[in-house]
Amino acid sequence: MDCLFCKFVSGEIPIQKVYEDCDFIIIKDIAPQAKNHFLAIPKQHFKLLSEATEEQSLMVGKMLKKISTLTKELELENGYRLVINQGDDAGQTVFHLHVHILSGQKMGWQPA
Ligand code: AMP
Ligand code: ZN
Repeated sequence: MDCLFCKFVSGEIPIQKVYEDCDFIIIKDIAPQAKNHFLAIPKQHFKLLSEATEEQSLMVGKMLKKISTLTKELELENGYRLVINQGDDAGQTVFHLHVHILSGQKMGWQPA
C-alpha cells in the first residue's frame, strides 16, 4: 500500500516528530493553515472513523485525550482546534486517518 503517512510512521520517509508514543505520532503540517498546524497520525492505517475497529476507536479517544495534555509542545494554552477530514466532501487528501491540530492564534469559522 502506497501511503505517505504509513511511510512517516515506519520511518521509510524520515520526518521530524513533535511527539510519539506507541499509538501515534505528531508532526508539523507541510502547508500550515494557522500559526501552528500539527497532524496527529495513528500508527495503524485506516481511512475513516466508520472503518475503525473497536480497538482503533478506543485508540482515537486516547489520542485525543493525550493531545489535550501536550499544552506546551503544541501551544494549546489559549485554545485550539481539532479537525478530522472524512472523505471527499471534507476534502480528505491523505487516506490515512489523522487529526489536524491548529493553535497559536484566534481562528474564524469557514467551512467552504
Ligand atoms: P487532509 O486534507 O485532511 O487529508 O490532510 C492532509 C494534510 O497532510 C494536509 O494538511 C497536507 O498539508 C499535509 N501533508 C501532505 N504532505 C505532507 C508532508 N510531506 N509533510 C507534512 N504534511 C503533509
Ligand atoms: Zn497509511
